[in-house]
Amino acid sequence: VADKRYLFTPGPTPVPPQVLEAMSRPIIHHRSSDFREILQRTFDRLRDIYRTEGDVLVFTSSGTGGMESAISNLTRPGDRVVVVSAGHFGERWAAMAQKFGCEVDTIGYEWGETPSSDDLSARLSETGGAKVVFLTHSETSTGVVADVQGLAAVAKEAGALVVVDAVSSLGAVPLETDSWGLDAVVSGSQKALMTPPGLATVSVSSDAWAAVEKDAPGRYYFDWQETRERQEQFDPAFTPAVSIVVGLDVALGLLLEEGLEQAFERHTRLGRACRAGVRAMGLELFSPDDDRSAVVTAINAPDGIDSSELVQTLRDRQGIVLAPGQGPLKGKVFRIGHIGYYDVFDITTALAGVELVLAELGADIERGAAITAALEAFEHTRV
Ligand SMILES: *Cc1c(COP(=O)(O)O)cnc(C)c1O
Repeated sequence: VADKRYLFTPGPTPVPPQVLEAMSRPIIHHRSSDFREILQRTFDRLRDIYRTEGDVLVFTSSGTGGMESAISNLTRPGDRVVVVSAGHFGERWAAMAQKFGCEVDTIGYEWGETPSSDDLSARLSETGGAKVVFLTHSETSTGVVADVQGLAAVAKEAGALVVVDAVSSLGAVPLETDSWGLDAVVSGSQKALMTPPGLATVSVSSDAWAAVEKDAPGRYYFDWQETRERQEQFDPAFTPAVSIVVGLDVALGLLLEEGLEQAFERHTRLGRACRAGVRAMGLELFSPDDDRSAVVTAINAPDGIDSSELVQTLRDRQGIVLAPGQGPLKGKVFRIGHIGYYDVFDITTALAGVELVLAELGADIERGAAITAALEAFEHTRV
């Protein structure tokens, strides 16, 4: 079918029909009691999903707007900050902090490496600490999910604020905002939260509030204090993307109805299924062969095959949309996202498509093994 698409990227992700239905209703006014009720419920649900008693601010922007708000509210030009970077999104933290005039100390890993809390601890003690440490929970460009709990503990120990990019991880893998001591956690609507792109969410701890200088220059739309005051009255400062908020409310309800722990287990099993299928086909994993890697699986393209061309061919022939490699991995890896509104048959469809196209391109792969291996790994393992 010419226009049928199978969306298997780590964002945007497929949206459940209940969410699409809610978003197709007539627009309501953002200062009406109709919307107030939805806002109130959405904020409560976000707190449940973040596992925080603190504030979760909502901005109409992509996830990067939420990241920028953390920098513009928590830092001033000249502040020393540490960025732990092992891929595209770690590099984004460093580039943004630089633009805002911070003195940026980057702990840089090769793309695909897993950050270590010993390295962070050593750097913080050698350099006399930092005002803020910026972390990436799920490095979507490589498939690595970092041990944010361990990294955060080391950063807090050194007296730094901890800011986490959890855009692709919140709702997919465990994240405990309060009990891990995370001062700001940024997420976005279009990944594991099963909603179209358009909203960023940011939790703010009491330590983070204490560090926000009131009325400091360098921010307006993304001002946390203004946003909190208006959110407390359910009277948004600016016109929000009303339909996307309506959708997010329904999507968060679905996630909480499934249960967060159940959703985490489902994602772990989806990751296992994807890796088992990839291995059975005879392909090499780029992302770690590890249960933590439950957001996106990055796979090395076989020798002589350009991964970007593979992704384009899958889209053209079968309507299957995977993600290509970014930065230094461009042309080398392709990525299958498995977060949000997603089950094992999405994995088997993705693997079947990859198998067919690779066989056509003459790659030396095992035919017919991937799907059985994926189904077995999904069904017969419990977390
Ligand atoms: C998707 C993503 C972002 C934000 O992307 P936007 O395009 O700005 O929504 C940030 N960090 C990670 C890890 C992501 O996966």
